[in-house]
Amino acid sequence: MPETALQIVLASRPTGEPTRENFRLEEIAMPTAPPGGVLVRGLYLSLDPYMRGRMDDRKSYAPAVALGAVMVGEAISEVVQSNHPDYAVGDIVMGRTGWATHAASTGAGLVKLDPARGPISARLGVLGMPGFTAYAGLMLIGKPKPGETVAVAAASGPVGSLVGQLARRAGARAVGIAGGPDKCRYLIEELGFDAAVDHRDPAFAEQLKSACPDGIDVYFENVGGAVWQAVLPLLNLYARVPVCGLIAQYNATGELGDSLMATMRAVLTQSLTLRGYINSEFAAEHYPAFLETVAEGLADGGIIHREDITDGLENAPEAFIGMLRGKNFGKALVRLSAS
Ligand code: NDP
Repeated sequence: MPETALQIVLASRPTGEPTRENFRLEEIAMPTAPPGGVLVRGLYLSLDPYMRGRMDDRKSYAPAVALGAVMVGEAISEVVQSNHPDYAVGDIVMGRTGWATHAASTGAGLVKLDPARGPISARLGVLGMPGFTAYAGLMLIGKPKPGETVAVAAASGPVGSLVGQLARRAGARAVGIAGGPDKCRYLIEELGFDAAVDHRDPAFAEQLKSACPDGIDVYFENVGGAVWQAVLPLLNLYARVPVCGLIAQYNATGELGDSLMATMRAVLTQSLTLRGYINSEFAAEHYPAFLETVAEGLADGGIIHREDITDGLENAPEAFIGMLRGKNFGKALVRLSAS
């Protein structure tokens, strides 16, 4: 066991896009398992867009990270010391242990994983919170019907890629919106999307229109901003819009633009249903069905997922900043230790 552990704390709050200076890498004395608790050694840390919101000190559905505190995050770890009756050394667990190589925990909130049931890293992506977010938003709010058109942005990420694949399994047409030709090709050639459109292309709005000749019945909103502006005129009567994320706006510093008027007009004239949600709302009731559906799809090859792994906790800030810019290609993870 090494004598020290590493952690990354929030050094300052960003104005707009985060920079490396907003994070600080600290070396601390190795923590020990508390009485009745465990010490875990991190294997994989999940990087998720919601973490950007936690860096700001403003009202949200979850509290901000305090200055000087360890950045929040979910990780998969191995138990290396245990004073807890339910955990033995060597158990693999998942929990909100933060951006750290090691963490002391009471055991509350930890979930034991069975490594025999598929790759453990997938529990942070397609078989975890992002996957469930896709399932809940699409199946419980979007409710696609056979023959309908489902469009989704950030389509190559863990949420969007599952939305498109589940839409296809429901008999709908899946149109993905992604940044760049490589991601667009991946959506069609590997994931089986019916069409893919590059939001960075200057002709994006016209291309999206051509890709959706019958309009859009379900728009799974991951992005907001300019993508929403292009989607809005294409929404059909009674279209459903699960509002899952607004990543194009997470770094915004100014006031809302005048797009609200156009949005509200379309809500009325097209009888739209816009429904925001946080995945945890649906977890108690629907998580088991999600796990069954997606585990089965992964096992039979009907559902495909992709990971974008960065090595070393010290590289987490760079990878996180890159994810907000679309540099990740697949679920963004940090490998915290070699095995
Ligand atoms: P991704 O791995 O898809 O990463 C984010 C992606 O967003 C980037 O790769 C980039 O892809 C895209 N992006 C960034 N900026 C822009 C922009 N200005 N315009 C268009 N696309 C942009 O992330 P996730 O799959 O983990 O998350 C997707 C969304 O789901 C996020 O908005 C997130 O906040 C939300 N979410 C919501 C939850 C909930 O409970 N409501 C839970 C989990 C996630 P590209 O290169 O294709 O542009």
